Amino acid sequence: LTSSDVEQAGSDLQDLREEVADTTKEIMKLVARRIELSKRIGEVKSRGSLPIDNEKVEDALLEEVLRECERLGLDQQLGTKILATLVRESKKAQRTRVGGKQQQLITPMVMMAKATEIEKGGRKLIRLDVGEPDFRPPKAVLDVVSSALYSYKTYYTVGRGIPELLSALRSYLAIRYNYREAAENQLIVTPGGRFAVYSALATVASEGDSVVVIEPNWPAYKEGLDYIGARAITVRTTFDERWEPSPERVKAAIRPNTKAIVLSYPSNPTGKIMDKASFAEIVEIADDRGLTVISDEIYNDYAYRPCPTILDDLPKKYILTSSFSKAWSMTGFRVGYSFAPAETSSRMLKILGLMITCVPDFIQRGAVKALEAVDEVSRNSRTMKERIDATSAELAEIDALELIKPEGAIYAFPQAKDPGFDSSAFAIELLEKKGVTVSPGTGFGDYPRCFRVSLGQPQETLSAGVKKIGEMLG
Ligand code: PMP
Repeated sequence: LTSSDVEQAGSDLQDLREEVADTTKEIMKLVARRIELSKRIGEVKSRGSLPIDNEKVEDALLEEVLRECERLGLDQQLGTKILATLVRESKKAQRTRVGGKQQQLITPMVMMAKATEIEKGGRKLIRLDVGEPDFRPPKAVLDVVSSALYSYKTYYTVGRGIPELLSALRSYLAIRYNYREAAENQLIVTPGGRFAVYSALATVASEGDSVVVIEPNWPAYKEGLDYIGARAITVRTTFDERWEPSPERVKAAIRPNTKAIVLSYPSNPTGKIMDKASFAEIVEIADDRGLTVISDEIYNDYAYRPCPTILDDLPKKYILTSSFSKAWSMTGFRVGYSFAPAETSSRMLKILGLMITCVPDFIQRGAVKALEAVDEVSRNSRTMKERIDATSAELAEIDALELIKPEGAIYAFPQAKDPGFDSSAFAIELLEKKGVTVSPGTGFGDYPRCFRVSLGQPQETLSAGVKKIGEMLG
């Protein structure tokens, strides 16, 4: 290597860097022009009272970008990622022109915050918004957790979970679901089902990707995807279709950048249980398209007709998420789990390791004990069935409402007969005038006529709440 070689390399590098800087400036100019155009689109939309979101336009643009990537030899994942950023900025720019305050969505979390604030002021409310059962956690779990504390199970554990819990989960899947093939490196102990769901979404979808979700559903799927920068493509189900999703529509929702389909049955908020045949069809569609099925089976012990599980017939790519929160009524313990192919599982584990290292040891000891508490789970499930029966009958007495009787989970999701019903306004009024909280349907998708009544309260409380709902609507 001569000194002139080094000099030449230095000068070549200088030229290239200048070109890179110029190209970057060009990109910025183009971005500025695109945002300027978006603002003008915002003005036009505002004049015509047109919505900001337009799925067809977004789909067409995505197709064009993918074709262009192919033509240019550019990585398509990079193309979709850049497009996602541009589209997000465009919507932001349009919003500044369309103006008007974005209405706050009243999700269950928002309702919970409002109610807790009022309760702090001393007012007693009937809380039918919170998605948690009122049952006591199994006594044996409390004993084990407290003795675990006093025997100093108070240090870090391996990220995946303590061997005792992983082994107990394997036996549980074998006994409860007749699934015998689970290996320890496919399981992760998570802080609740919520973390399992988020890490599943973040593992399968990146910025610019999309995931199919069926509405109405628990809002955290969409919120999680938003946070990741991925798009939730919603397949809407309706009261008139008895909340039954059609596999055809799921298939039609799949885009070139779709990575997964989220299923969750029994459903929060409708209590719907999907037919085994439809479930199997959706799994087949996912397999055909190389998509992951994320199945959130947190309510599986509250099922009053046979409920499909991905363990019946595993998709090629799958993530099962579940939790101790509902069946064992252990919401505050924050413990759940996921089950996925080993490689997917290890990618999910990275997120957990990065964020919380592990679920507390003494909590995991409690979870081991919970898996033995079969009687408590059956009792909780029976009680919930009685509440579904009684509350459905009481809701049916209210003329202004109609209800598809829940087949599982811990909620009822009635719909107002009045097509112009605004459940957000109703929920606020019900809270202020009658001291009863429910979750408006708009928290679960575009369902302004519906609201969710949580059955996680003793029957007397439920009956008193439903009575007040009737009075409000009477
Ligand atoms: N999935 C669904 C469908 C839920 O309704 C909930 C809680 N409301 C969760 C997951 C998460 O529960 P947790 O984090 O307490 O396990």
